[in-house]
Amino acid sequence: MTLKDKILGGLYGQALGDAWGMPAYFHPDQTWKAFGWITEFLPAPADHEVHTGLPAARITDDSEQAFSLAREYIAAGGVTLPATIKGIVEWYDRTGGDSSKYVGPSTRRGVQALKRGDDPYVTGRLGDTNGAAMRVSPVGLLYPNDPMGAVDAAAISCVPTHNTSVAISGAGAVAAAIAVATREDATLDAIIAAGMLGAELGRQKAHYWLGPSVTRRIEMAVAIARKGNEPLARLREMFDVVGTSLSIVETVGAAFGVLVMAEGDPKQTAIYAANLSGDADTVGAIACAIAGTYRGIGAFDPSIIEQLNADPIFQQYNVPALADGLFALATRP
Ligand SMILES: [Mg+2]
Repeated sequence: MTLKDKILGGLYGQALGDAWGMPAYFHPDQTWKAFGWITEFLPAPADHEVHTGLPAARITDDSEQAFSLAREYIAAGGVTLPATIKGIVEWYDRTGGDSSKYVGPSTRRGVQALKRGDDPYVTGRLGDTNGAAMRVSPVGLLYPNDPMGAVDAAAISCVPTHNTSVAISGAGAVAAAIAVATREDATLDAIIAAGMLGAELGRQKAHYWLGPSVTRRIEMAVAIARKGNEPLARLREMFDVVGTSLSIVETVGAAFGVLVMAEGDPKQTAIYAANLSGDADTVGAIACAIAGTYRGIGAFDPSIIEQLNADPIFQQYNVPALADGLFALATRP
């Protein structure tokens, strides 16, 4: 498996987990009652709190922000603060951010402050929700086998909207895990260890902000994932104990949990993330970005690739070209 296959797998994984979890409700009982296990791309139900009207295989803010950042980082020749601001603000304006139900609380606060002309090192000072981690996969893909470099860059990507120790810890965990997942000989144990390392390093990178340890939450989720009981019981325990709210600590912990439950298979990771409910599309986007990088594009069901490729929003980002650009940047001498 080549690095190119892994980068493409990471980007398609991001979209897969996002679109698969998009129709899930915020409570597992609702998801379970409406769908049972979600085993294919489904449209959002008419009474969904946020996603009403979205068709099957439609990505959401998670992947749109990640792909916008990938485009800007390629154009800028690396992860920079101006490219981060441009990627996020352009996405916000393009999708009607002021009236959009998609925009998370930290991103909305950060973008509105940036538009007022505030210092970008201040605009993210209260950002402690999961947006920092849901969009960070391209950063990890730019640092193959370099988890330390990935965490440093992830911290830059957090500055304008999520400049807190807890958010950089969550984003650092995901970026470091993806950096290690690009290795030819990557194992799930190495990916989990990199996630914990990234969480600890990231936690030291901004002013201290109250929040539990991402590292400990990953540890807790992985322990639940490795119990021998039936998958639904493990998912319910993860929902109750690890949590799947907008808290970045919960989201990142749960993402490692479903990744391990599915042994890194992208589609099975998406199935577990969707049935976990809560902020399912974000847990799925993160977990499947790691899974897709780990297993590579060859591990994807061709019909999944076809359905994503057929969606007009997904097409706008030209994901194969983004993979080419990230690959060129990651391997330049
Ligand atoms: Mg979303």
